[in-house]
Amino acid sequence: MSIELTRNFSIIAHIDHGKTTLSDRLLEFTQTVAQRDQQAQHLDSMDLERERGITIKSHPVTMSYPAKDGKVYQLNLLDTPGHVDFSYEVSRSLAACEGAILIVDAAQGVEAQTMANLHLANEQDLQIVPVINKIDLPSCDLPKVHKQLEDIICIPAEEAIPASAKTGVGIEDILEAIVERIPPPTHFNDDGLLRASVFDSLYDNFRGVVSYVRVMSGSMKRGTRIKLFHTSNSYEIKEVGVFTPSMTKRDILVAGDVGYVIANMKSASEVKIGDTMTESNKPCKDPLPGFKVIQPMVFSGIYPVDTSDYEALKVAVAKLQINDAAFTFMAESSVALGFGFRCGFLGLLHMEIIQERLRREFNMDIISTYPSVIYEVTKTSGEDVIVDNPCMLPDAQQIQEIREPMVRVFIMTPGDHIGDLMKLIMEKRGMMENTETIDDMRVMLTCVLPLSEILVDFNDRLKSMTKGYGSMDYEHNGYRPEKMVKMDIMIAGEPVDAFSTIVHRDKAESYGRKLCEKLKEVIPRQLFVVAIQAAIGGKIIARASISAMSKNVTAKCYGGDISRKRKLLEKQKKGKAKMKSIGKVNIPQDAFIRVLKND
Ligand code: GDP
Repeated sequence: MSIELTRNFSIIAHIDHGKTTLSDRLLEFTQTVAQRDQQAQHLDSMDLERERGITIKSHPVTMSYPAKDGKVYQLNLLDTPGHVDFSYEVSRSLAACEGAILIVDAAQGVEAQTMANLHLANEQDLQIVPVINKIDLPSCDLPKVHKQLEDIICIPAEEAIPASAKTGVGIEDILEAIVERIPPPTHFNDDGLLRASVFDSLYDNFRGVVSYVRVMSGSMKRGTRIKLFHTSNSYEIKEVGVFTPSMTKRDILVAGDVGYVIANMKSASEVKIGDTMTESNKPCKDPLPGFKVIQPMVFSGIYPVDTSDYEALKVAVAKLQINDAAFTFMAESSVALGFGFRCGFLGLLHMEIIQERLRREFNMDIISTYPSVIYEVTKTSGEDVIVDNPCMLPDAQQIQEIREPMVRVFIMTPGDHIGDLMKLIMEKRGMMENTETIDDMRVMLTCVLPLSEILVDFNDRLKSMTKGYGSMDYEHNGYRPEKMVKMDIMIAGEPVDAFSTIVHRDKAESYGRKLCEKLKEVIPRQLFVVAIQAAIGGKIIARASISAMSKNVTAKCYGGDISRKRKLLEKQKKGKAKMKSIGKVNIPQDAFIRVLKND
């Protein structure tokens, strides 16, 4: 098919504005999926994705569309993950497109994620086709949305296509707009050398790694020997094809095509997203632009609740990594929790997904430690080190400067909650950048915050403050020097590594106090008084103590009944088995779980 008849596009939208429903309608209209075969919501396939209403994996689809001009076009839809944790993948998918449909809900209007997604699309110079979805709703307010499009995202209102993915209104107009407004694939280079950009990959138990590619120049087919720029590995292609939406074999992929390549790769880490495939014998000189090594942003320890499950956990994390190259792990051990793994994730959602998969797919009972971000540390010796684990932070005397990762957060909120939100942002050490009135109801706040401060409860508090109406999204925004310190927790004088954290100096006391109080609740009384202390570099900043209990558990069954006494002693022995001793203090295993989980 002529390249002039190909269109590559993505759909971007705020969650729930109808991306999945609209994608399904497009497939249905072009008869890519016969209606009776169509499962509800075809594109979101993983259970977890469906539960959370987000797309984690991109699923490209090729549709064939006979347009009103009498020609048949090949439309390639590249779906993108709808979450900032995966923004690098989103940017690579968008880089493989020439245009994007921007969906805005007719009743909700522009939201925080709409803006963040639009930024990404603009960075790639994509042609934007605005669609106002859900016009069938009684609460639909077209004039309001038109005004928002013009005022906030500078798109002329007349360009917007009114549609309803539910009733099917406007679907044909959208397809026509894709053909008319989005340009055909640009000729990258006519030297005929193969350049294919990898925008995603999938691991298949039977076929190994399936790479999703956009061919920019040249062509590729079965038997072609290819090499990848960033790993320098070379492979022979076993199969190429397109998604209709199931994988369908083709003889050849040519410039402009979006499809898949299977080439004997055994692990997801063999192909890096954003890398360029070229021919081994006739390589192009330079890779396509935009490649980045994806770095995990959030780290946490994952330990088996039952120490005898360590080997099983090791097998499980290794399996997960085979199909998720962005997930990293390294063996580590903790005095309190035993043997486990230090794991790296793209963000909090990615972390939750991995933990949930360990529980569901591998039946693992796990405990994870408090999440930590990556700190850049310049030592007094001049050396720079990266610290992802509080236990690895150099001694305070050796540190010249610590820099922490920052994010720029977009918050959309009803105007009457601004005061509360500003307080929350201050409390989280944030700085306001901008406040913009969206319409008579809502305001968009832009602020810069430390990533560590939004890791745990920021979104929950935003939601509860705004009664569910507020929404947020963020982008990474470099590093900033801050007064960060390592805080240790000591129980009866012994430091307990699982509770060590890196905190801001000004927040250390209150956080230390909270942690001490919580530990006091979960640690049972011992035969002696137990001091729980929070310390920075040996200086105690908060403390709590647990008073001693009376010595003899059998004391209360005076005299007689020996069998009852034995039972009690046995019970005490069993209890001990589940205890972890820190120095001379016995702490029940689940105390760690309770403290770490609650926070
Ligand atoms: P996504 O999160 O952007 O993929 O959104 P979905 O496609 O899952 O849609 C979110 C919700 O909006 C679902 O309950 C859909 O049934 C509903 N929805 C989608 N499009 C329309 C529409 O045009 N009209 C109405 N009334 N509801 C819609």
